[in-house]
Amino acid sequence: MARPRVGYDQAMDSALRLSNVVLLLTLGACAPEVGPIDTAPQPPEGLRFAFPVDAPELISQTIGVDHDPTVYDGVEELICTNYDGRGFPWCYDEHDGSDYLLDGGFDTMDAGSAGVIAAEDGVVVEISDGNYDRCHGVASGGVDCDGYEMIANYVVLEHEGGVLSRYWHLQSGSVLVAVGQEVRCGEPLARIGSSGYSSTPHLHFEVHDPDGISVDPYAGEYSQERSYWVEQGDPEGLPGGACAG
Ligand SMILES: [Zn+2]
Repeated sequence: MARPRVGYDQAMDSALRLSNVVLLLTLGACAPEVGPIDTAPQPPEGLRFAFPVDAPELISQTIGVDHDPTVYDGVEELICTNYDGRGFPWCYDEHDGSDYLLDGGFDTMDAGSAGVIAAEDGVVVEISDGNYDRCHGVASGGVDCDGYEMIANYVVLEHEGGVLSRYWHLQSGSVLVAVGQEVRCGEPLARIGSSGYSSTPHLHFEVHDPDGISVDPYAGEYSQERSYWVEQGDPEGLPGGACAG
């Protein structure tokens, strides 16, 4: 599913309008009605993810899945609810993955970036590589790929029980695996880039359940009860890097 709208995109593009949203929320004019609304199934027994980046110290920010089903427009488009009830910048409207932003942006990417690693044992079912990886946000909103096609580099793994993990916006030429290849948890897949609809170098990590529905790997009041992570960790930190096996 090469949806263009994955990445640290709307959040970045809409950051200029954040002050308006905060004002609205402060006034209570547009506070969304949210509650424990996600009835996603529990993760399959025996499937647990490790944090899919090999250098967590290079990750400056997480922007997660939105559990608020309302689709907002215009000034409200940052309104969201993450797995434990926090709003922007911990999520943004309609986001269906977890963005892990590379600290230092393109400078860090050019200095070697960070490795994207398999979150769990699995089989490579889809890859894309060779697409322009310096797409960036523009002040007027949206993403600009400097005249190149806006196509992401990515890897998709299938795990036990048919769960998919999807790794998006990878650096061009960095994909190390081929379709059909078996990988072990922690095995290098690629490096973080900014290909496709992405305003800054980051990994968009997305999990699909066996029915193809995107789910939040984080457990919480607004998500499912059990975490997909081996060690979900502190709400303001990152999941643990240890593999389940
Ligand atoms: Zn994303």
